[in-house]
Amino acid sequence: ATPTAIMVATGKGATQGILIKGGQALEAAHKVKTVVFDKTGTLTIGKPIVVHTKLLTNIPLHVFYDTIAAAEVNSEHPLGKAIVAYSRKISGEHSSHGQQQHEVRDFEAIPGQGVRAVVDGKATLVGNMRLMKEHGIHISEEAEEHLRDVETLARTGVMVAIERELVGVVSIADPVKPEAARVISILKSMGVRSMMVTGDNWGTAVAIARELGIERPCVHAESLPEDKARIVEEMQVRGLPGAGTDIAIEAADIVLMKSNLEDVITGIDLSRKSFFRIW
Ligand code: ADP
Ligand code: MG
Repeated sequence: ATPTAIMVATGKGATQGILIKGGQALEAAHKVKTVVFDKTGTLTIGKPIVVHTKLLTNIPLHVFYDTIAAAEVNSEHPLGKAIVAYSRKISGEHSSHGQQQHEVRDFEAIPGQGVRAVVDGKATLVGNMRLMKEHGIHISEEAEEHLRDVETLARTGVMVAIERELVGVVSIADPVKPEAARVISILKSMGVRSMMVTGDNWGTAVAIARELGIERPCVHAESLPEDKARIVEEMQVRGLPGAGTDIAIEAADIVLMKSNLEDVITGIDLSRKSFFRIW
């Protein structure tokens, strides 16, 4: 592209919240064959909510939620925040219990797995299958079957163990963004393949991918944060991450300041136009 074309494209991008870090970045974007999307907060709205609870023992619902909310209260993770918000809602409804104070010790957030804490002296685990397996928690057939059902509905099943016993599964929904399927279909018509990478489990990931028209071989699930970066490197895709993803803004050649997925198309389009001199 000519220096003028680069200036025009960079300027047009900037007015739309698309930061293009120089001519090389712009050049790279018109060669993009694959876009790797992070699932949570990029393809999905990213404000998960609790939609169902399955208790596996006779633990009272308010004790269950009081305990896991205490374990998650210091969590930065959207799933943790969803659990805390839901627990506040229930304890408001059962106001005779009020908001109880709990003694929380040894809180630890384990990336890609969940949290661990000692709540009122009881060892509490809140997270996915990997977390449970690593702590040697027995998963009954009933629990496994329930998890499969939850995942088929594109929800995340968060498992809860107290004192090494699996006591329940919380289903959390995070709907896809309204524009996501359309953007993926437009990218496809432009010859650009969409991939999805997520730390979430395979069942949920595949269900979300199906909603979006992403083919199964283009899904990477149960990826740890460091895996995500490696997958992108391996794809040799120059960055096009949406705002607020796990892939750092400093590492990106092009940054989408808004979280509207349509900007992915606009970014590639700006690059193509400047290289094929369409304006
Ligand atoms: P992503 O951002 O790709 O959805 P994360 O790496 O943030 O994935 O999380 C991966 C998985 O780890 C989640 O789907 C969930 O099962 C589990 N997890 C992580 N943090 C928490 C938490 N605070 N509470 C419960 N589960 C969690
Ligand atoms: Mg995340």
